[in-house]
Amino acid sequence: MSLGEFDLIARHFARPVRRALLGVGDDCALLAPSPGMELAVSSDLLVEGRHFLSTVAPQALGHKALAVNLSDLAACGATPLAFTLMLALPRPDDAFLRGFAQGLFALADVHGIELVGGDTTAGPLTVGITVLGEVPPSAALRRSGAQAGDDLWVSHPAGGGVGDARLALEVFRGAAALPGETFAALRRAMEWPQPRVALGIALRGVAHSAIDLSDGLCGDLGHLLTQSRLGAQLEWADLPRSDAMASLPMTMQQQCVLGGGDDYELLFSAPVAARPAVQRAAAQAEVAVCRIGELRSEAGLRVRWPDGSVSPWAARGFDHFASTDR
Ligand code: ADP
Ligand code: MG
Repeated sequence: MSLGEFDLIARHFARPVRRALLGVGDDCALLAPSPGMELAVSSDLLVEGRHFLSTVAPQALGHKALAVNLSDLAACGATPLAFTLMLALPRPDDAFLRGFAQGLFALADVHGIELVGGDTTAGPLTVGITVLGEVPPSAALRRSGAQAGDDLWVSHPAGGGVGDARLALEVFRGAAALPGETFAALRRAMEWPQPRVALGIALRGVAHSAIDLSDGLCGDLGHLLTQSRLGAQLEWADLPRSDAMASLPMTMQQQCVLGGGDDYELLFSAPVAARPAVQRAAAQAEVAVCRIGELRSEAGLRVRWPDGSVSPWAARGFDHFASTDR
């Protein structure tokens, strides 16, 4: 049976409104943000073959499409409110949409947010989401707020580290081989990232700056450094690495941990005096954080290796329009 556009929307995406005044089904959605709050808005577009493999489970795709957007709200310290969904589908595939909606709404329910609208069209499989959130006046965490002398921190999954999603991708590509159980954990990091929304909120008023890791540690750190007009030194020994990662050759570790991509962890800076406050925020959010280096007034990114030597490192990440890296 072939379903039309409106049947598809009604079947898979229309749910009763909760917080919104008007949701899916009218010309606009209507929302009432809390009085006095600033609205935080972010969009992300996921294209098959570029952002996800064609073999991905529909549930995982639904989860990840929303997760990467929530991660942007987290990086600003915003509280999520609602989202819209733009879908291009090669065909009206009911089984695909059922799985996709399951993954999507499961994560939406974890964060208490609702789908309030969107658009659906035929085309190569593409998923776009816009999330809306709110943040108290002037409280949003920005890339530009870092100060020289700040500690640099990164969040990470329990038992996991930075670069695990990239390592899973390298295994898919055949560039690395790992035992099945180890690979399963890395694949979870790649396909089911957990946006650090609670951590971002807990870091309001504590962190000076923040960014979420989507393009890789050094690339995203580079954005933060550029916008804050600073340099940084990373301590290789302090970078959180999973056991699987630590067992690999150094060049592969560097590629995954420093180059990375798709982590959706928070990279943030805070004054040295705020160390206890950062630990309290992390405990409150139940997320592990690691101090991985410091910000310096001298431009450029350096890495200090376990033998004590320091070398410059390119603060570059994945760029869709550059032919380097991935
Ligand atoms: P319009 O033509 O007025 O833009 P549409 O016919 O595109 O409206 O969509 C009808 C309703 O379904 C709208 O409320 C729209 O927000 C909603 N909608 C369309 N596609 C999606 C989707 N993928 N997810 C959620 N809501 C959607
Ligand atoms: Mg429309």
